[in-house]
Amino acid sequence: QKPVPSDIVISRSCVPKPIDRLAMEVGLLSDELELYGKTKAKVQLDIISRLRAQPDGKYVVVTGITPTPLGEGKSTTTIGLVQALGAHMKLNVFACVRQPSQGPTFGIKGGAAGGGYSQVIPMEEFNLHLTGDIHAITAANNLVAAAIDARLFHEATQTDKALYNRLVPLSGGQRTFSPIQINRLKRLGIEKTDPTTLTEEEITRFARLDMDPDSITWHRVLDTNDRFLRKITIGQSPTEKGHTREAQFSITVASEIMAVLALTSSLKDMRQRLAKMVVATSRSGQPITTEDLGVSGALTVLMRDAIKPNLMQTLEGTPVFVHAGPFANIAHGNSSVLADKIALKLVGPEGFVVTEAGFGADIGMEKFFNIKCRYSGLRPHVVVLVATVRALKMHGGGPTVSDCTVYWGCAPGLPLLFLFLLEPVCKGCSNMRKQVENARHFGVPVVVAVNAFKTDTESELDLICTLAKEVGAFDAVRCSHWAEGGAGAVALGQAVQRASEAPSDFKFLYDVELPIADKIRIIAQKIYGADDIELLPDAQHKVELYTKQGFGNLPICMAKTHLSLSHEADKKGVPTGFVLPIRDIRASVGAGFLYPLVGTMPTIPGLPTRPCFYDIDLDPETEQVNGLF
Ligand code: ADP
Repeated sequence: QKPVPSDIVISRSCVPKPIDRLAMEVGLLSDELELYGKTKAKVQLDIISRLRAQPDGKYVVVTGITPTPLGEGKSTTTIGLVQALGAHMKLNVFACVRQPSQGPTFGIKGGAAGGGYSQVIPMEEFNLHLTGDIHAITAANNLVAAAIDARLFHEATQTDKALYNRLVPLSGGQRTFSPIQINRLKRLGIEKTDPTTLTEEEITRFARLDMDPDSITWHRVLDTNDRFLRKITIGQSPTEKGHTREAQFSITVASEIMAVLALTSSLKDMRQRLAKMVVATSRSGQPITTEDLGVSGALTVLMRDAIKPNLMQTLEGTPVFVHAGPFANIAHGNSSVLADKIALKLVGPEGFVVTEAGFGADIGMEKFFNIKCRYSGLRPHVVVLVATVRALKMHGGGPTVSDCTVYWGCAPGLPLLFLFLLEPVCKGCSNMRKQVENARHFGVPVVVAVNAFKTDTESELDLICTLAKEVGAFDAVRCSHWAEGGAGAVALGQAVQRASEAPSDFKFLYDVELPIADKIRIIAQKIYGADDIELLPDAQHKVELYTKQGFGNLPICMAKTHLSLSHEADKKGVPTGFVLPIRDIRASVGAGFLYPLVGTMPTIPGLPTRPCFYDIDLDPETEQVNGLF
């Protein structure tokens, strides 16, 4: 077999078709397209009403077994599968994937365009700024953060009347409320529109949010793995007059605004979600929202382009929507509902839309079903579960996580992954069995895709396929799309097509109306295999607070390590006999979920000793980017 060149070399060797041509091929009208250069375009949301009557295509979600830190090829398989279905089996297809974060791109894992001969191209466009959606989210998020601290400062330094006069300024001799302020008045039960008629008590209630600084749950964000921002002190300049407080950063892709983008169904819905986000609690126990801060309209303005999905293509010229990019361990891990809905209309009833849910099936897939599908109303036809020999060997007692976190080529232990015999693979298949079971909880047929690496042996690949079928998969096929492109995933495409015609009986894992702790317990016991959960004091307090505030009926978005079914990254295979510790719970009311923090999960990753950025550079002669993978 010929050696496979690096991802960037493969990507660069293929000339993408002009994006407006691809758009016409898939049935978009030129008026519905906003070009960003020759290889990317945004698609306007008007298309949803134009295609309303068109029946949807088949909906496929790609997930995986519990991975090694290097990833087991879900993005690669998503792209390989659409290349097979589209370019080889001549069906209408769309891949819907997340925009990668610059955290992993410059950190440990590298980009997320797929790999080998199954990639989204141009991969440097895909992996770097794309059309600026993540930057828009960072800007919007940090505007909220600035609004919170500025409001605390101004409320502390002004009387009620002075505050009111500044919030409702004189203009042409008159004071008028903005529409956002009228909404706030209504929520406070003050049915007045003339600012001169408010009583003193109403002025105080309107002007003072009276935020409890200790209750602020809104973090600043940055799309960089910067571990030193996990805890910071802000307000240290003398101009802030002693208003210092401890604050935190999260990575942008774990932010609530990213989740809002991924879960929204229209511009109007996004406006409402951006207004409902709760940032803190008042001293009297009321939730304080972005609408209360007066910032929700400005957020919608900052996000007005980001809401439109981005059209790109695979190496084999099939269409891809790249839209939204929440991480799956510390966020809900799925690309946008809007992109999926548009793609399902564009492919028509015989076509396929393949989307990816991040990390293992216990993480991204559980949230795909219980959060994304609950909001979108879409019901998938097939789950594709990606498995690799290297990860199953690790689950069966091969080298430990710490061996694997060391980066390719630098790890003394890593080559050993490939040298183990069949026994660890066989033992490690327990993890695949559990993840197949996890997918089957939702009543959808599962096809296991065994993503073959050149170091795998025939007997290892055969063993996994046989065991997968024994543990309840509809089918299991090995694929070689990384080395061969779509041609290497035709068997997978055929299995997916057959599975999409099999009966399915979709169901959610839990009823959202159950108490918060019960919903968390169901996920912990049924999906992770925990004996029980333990709510630590902060989490117990939040259960009571959010239930009282009326947020108890939201679905759950667990923030848990992706490297184990349990909360401890080193516990491989199928851990048993553990109690899942819930350290704290946050509410993403605008996005529409509660967000329990399991164990010590940080919400911004750090950089390793030798991050990927060491290899990345620009050739000034050719202006080509080198070293991305
Ligand atoms: P995931 O989406 O599961 O995190 P990716 O698809 O991003 O994983 O793949 C992780 C890395 O592994 C990428 O660098 C990709 O090129 C590489 N990879 C995937 N499949 C193969 C394969 N069969 N052989 C060699 N490398 C692969």
